Amino acid sequence: MLCPFCSCDDDKVVETRSARNHTAIRRRRECTACGRRFTTYESVERDPIRVIKRDGGREPYDPQKLRRGVRTACVKLPIPSLELDALLDRVENQLHNTLGGEVSTEEIGNLVLRELAGLDPVAYIRFASVYRRYRDLHEFLDEVGTLLKSQ
Ligand SMILES: [Zn+2]
Repeated sequence: MLCPFCSCDDDKVVETRSARNHTAIRRRRECTACGRRFTTYESVERDPIRVIKRDGGREPYDPQKLRRGVRTACVKLPIPSLELDALLDRVENQLHNTLGGEVSTEEIGNLVLRELAGLDPVAYIRFASVYRRYRDLHEFLDEVGTLLKSQ
């Protein structure tokens, strides 16, 4: 690692710690030439996920888009934002575990719904009504019925 002060490329690690909630390693390094210290972070680089849209087209997975969708479904519900973040992390981890790095919008929706079902029924119904695009009122009521039975 090039020293940011003198550009020498020789250093020794003086401290190694877990960081960013165990998703990164933080290292304090000391330049062997000028003796100054600097910090580096090491984390896993993940392959990009591609989303298969309803029309068969592909687009890069956009985490912000999913976050917006889930947050919208949870507006004005007593759900702590930490819990929402944890939910989104779990969904994203599952997306990264899919083979081939491609996942359909339907699969993403189902992963989120499974999580929301355990979190808040209102958020679940709101999200479901967008993602599943009910064909008619009966389909929507069936979904509500299924949900109420499982409570
Ligand atoms: Zn240096």
